Amino acid sequence: CDTIEKANSFITSLPTPMCLPNYVAGKLGLPTLDATATFIDSYEPKTGKLLYRLPRAQEKDVESAIRHARDAFQTWSKATRNERSGYLRRISELLQENRELFAVWESIDQGKMIERARIEVDRAISNFSYFSTYIIHEQTAARMVDGVALTYEHRSPAGVFALISPWNMPLYLLTWKIAPCIAFGCTAVAKPSEITSMSAYLLGILLQKAELPAGVVNIVLGDGPTTGAALVASPLVDGVSFTGGTQTGIAIRRATAHQIRKHLSLELGGKNPTLVFADSMAPTTRERTIRIAATAAFENQGEICLCGSRIYVERAAYKEFLALFTEYVANKYVLRETMGAVASAQHYSKIRGYLQLAADEKVTFNLGSVPPPVEEGGTQGYWVSPTILTDVAPDSVLLKDEIFGPVVTVCPFDDEADAVRLANDSEYGLAAVLLTTDGARMRRVGEQIEAGLVWVNCWLVRDLGTPFGGMKNSGTGREGGEYSREVFTVARTLHLPA
Ligand code: NAD
Repeated sequence: CDTIEKANSFITSLPTPMCLPNYVAGKLGLPTLDATATFIDSYEPKTGKLLYRLPRAQEKDVESAIRHARDAFQTWSKATRNERSGYLRRISELLQENRELFAVWESIDQGKMIERARIEVDRAISNFSYFSTYIIHEQTAARMVDGVALTYEHRSPAGVFALISPWNMPLYLLTWKIAPCIAFGCTAVAKPSEITSMSAYLLGILLQKAELPAGVVNIVLGDGPTTGAALVASPLVDGVSFTGGTQTGIAIRRATAHQIRKHLSLELGGKNPTLVFADSMAPTTRERTIRIAATAAFENQGEICLCGSRIYVERAAYKEFLALFTEYVANKYVLRETMGAVASAQHYSKIRGYLQLAADEKVTFNLGSVPPPVEEGGTQGYWVSPTILTDVAPDSVLLKDEIFGPVVTVCPFDDEADAVRLANDSEYGLAAVLLTTDGARMRRVGEQIEAGLVWVNCWLVRDLGTPFGGMKNSGTGREGGEYSREVFTVARTLHLPA
C-alpha cells in the first residue's frame, strides 16, 4: 500500500489475522521466511480476540536493517539542517492529515480510549514539528580564550541508533525517539513493543509517503529476547535510546557494558508519589486537588510511567480526601465509557496478581476488587476496574513495585518531613505530584523530592525543550531539546588561533 487510505481499507478487508511487515530500506515487507521463522500473535485488549500477527525478526534480519541504516547514514548525516527539517515537517503534516486513522488503530491496539489516543497522536505530531524547528534555531557556544584562541563546540551525528519503545503510548514514545534521532542527523533501526506494533507499521507507510530517503528509519518487529537483544548488542549500532521497564534497562546496560562508546539513554519505570497537603483541600481548591490526583492515577488505565500510584495525604485531611476521591473516581472512571482495557492478557494477570496479594494482606478495597482470572482463549477482553487501596502495611510490595495499572494506594502522612521521607522511600525516581497552595512549600518540598519531574498543582504538562528522565532506578540520561542533542550527537571542541 502506498497511502494510508489504501492501508486502512487493506487492513480492514483482510481476514484476521493479518501479518504486519517490517519497514526496511524504504520498503514494507516480511523478513526471510525460512524454516526458522516464527510469529507473534497480538490480541485486541478490549475483546481478547486475535488482531494481527507479526514476524519475530531474527539476528540476520536485524543485521540487514542495521546495514541499511549505516549506508543511509553516509548521506543523511551530511544533509543540511534545512533538508532534514523539511522531512520532519512533512512527516508531522502527514500525521496531522491522518490523525484519526492513527488514533483509531492506537485505541484498538493498546486498549486506550479514543480521546486519549487523539492526545497522543497530537503529541507525536509535536515531536516532529518541535525538532524540525529546533535544529534550525539551535545555537552552539563560541568563546575567545584570553585573546589567544577562539574555541567552539562542534557537534556531529553519533551514528546508527537502536530505538526501542514500550506498549503503553506506542506511537508517541516511538516518535519521541525517531524525531530527534533523524533531526540530529542519525539514522535508526526502531523496534516497537510486540504487544502494540500497529502504529509503527502505519508510520512506516507514512515515512514512505513522506519520501524519507531509504534506510534513514527502519522498523523491525519482534520481541525483546530475540529482536531487541540482537539490535542492542550489535557492534554496528552506535547508540541505544530505550524506554521500558527497569529490568530490561538493566539487561541492556549489561549487554552493552563492554561497548564504552555506545550512547545509552534509558527511560525506565516509576512508582510515583502524589503528595496532598491539607491546605490544598480548602473549599476553593479541593475540586482541583481531587481531579489532579485522580487524573494522575487513572489516565490511560494507570498505564503511563508518570502516573501517581502512591497517594500520601496529610493526616488532617485524610478522611475527607479519601471520601471525595473515591466518589470522584467511581463517577469519572467507568469501564468501556471513560476507561479502557489494559494492554494484554499477560499484563492483566500481573495486575490481578497484585490485587490478589492485596486481598491476602487484608488491605481495604475502597473501590474495585480482585478481577477474575483471564480466560484462556477468551473473548471478553482485559478489563480492570479502578481500584483504591488503603490500610496498606508500610513494607508491603504494593507500595514498592510498579503495578502499572488502574490501582492506587492512599496513605496518611504526619508533616512535611514525613511526606518527603515517604515520597523518597522508593527505588524509583521518575515523577511526583505536589498538591499544596503554600508557595514556599512548593519549592521547599519540590526540590527535596527525588524525581526527574515534579508537577505542582498540575500533571503531565510538558515542554519538549525541558529535560525528561528519571533519577535512581528510573533511568539515566535526559531527553528533550538540547538534552536529546546530547544523546544523538558527539561533541568536539575546536581551538583556532585568534
Ligand atoms: P519492557 O521493558 O518489557 O519492554 C520495552 C521494550 O523493550 C519492548 O519493545 C520489548 O520488546 C523490548 N525488550 C524487552 N527485552 C529486551 C531486551 N533484552 N533487549 C532489548 N529490548 C528488549 O517494558 P513494557 O512492559 O513494554 O513497558 C512498560 C514499562 O515501560 C514500565 O516499566 C513503564 O514505567 C516503562 N515506561 C517508562 C517510560 C519513561 O519515560 N520512563 C515511559 C513509558 C513506559
